[in-house]
Amino acid sequence: MSTIIQNALVPQVENKLIGHLPALERAELLSQAKLVQLNFADLLCLSGESYQYVYFPLTAFISLIAKLPKHPALEMGIIGFEGMLGATILLNTRQVPSEAIIQGSGKAWRIPIASFEDLLTRSNNLRRILETYLYQLLCQLSQNAVCAHFHSVESRLARWLLMSHDRIQTNELFLTHQFLSEMLGVRRSSITEAAGELQTSGCISYNRGWIHILNREGLLARCCSCYHLM
Ligand SMILES: [Zn+2]
Repeated sequence: MSTIIQNALVPQVENKLIGHLPALERAELLSQAKLVQLNFADLLCLSGESYQYVYFPLTAFISLIAKLPKHPALEMGIIGFEGMLGATILLNTRQVPSEAIIQGSGKAWRIPIASFEDLLTRSNNLRRILETYLYQLLCQLSQNAVCAHFHSVESRLARWLLMSHDRIQTNELFLTHQFLSEMLGVRRSSITEAAGELQTSGCISYNRGWIHILNREGLLARCCSCYHLM
């Protein structure tokens, strides 16, 4: 699970939402935050339970997962340094709407829920920034639902790799075909086939769970239109 690390080791990447706050409010928010290391496949919260913390990713990124009995899981949204986990607290509920797991290892700011609610009552700037973000997240969730229904696995995989690439600072991602099949809600064999196509075309290389992005332009040519809408 998450490990608290020294705030002196803050990475160079800034969370965009925190970055939009005026300096004094940013300092106040960060005074309530702990820097944590989050690792691949860490479960942050389950649907239906109450948030204990909110997270502002820096180098980590988070998947929002929807599940149905007897069906593969499906990723509904992705949250990196552009966003936060727990924005629905703006709607006066602590209830978690969807499971959240770590898709990309890295660092994040973590704030206890009660401290964050207190910050929200005192900062109109924070509330306004998060309202805009919550709207963007809702757009992402609805676009992902349409995408999963209509677009091919290869084009969705290309989009998914681009969205992940946008949120990391390297060209490497650690993933398994099993994990990817759960993200995209398809069988493992479909992921193997789609990843094979992207590898043959020189867009990626894949070795023992490590995906290397070799040709971002190639992925842009193959991804579904949803990537350009979000
Ligand atoms: Zn799509």
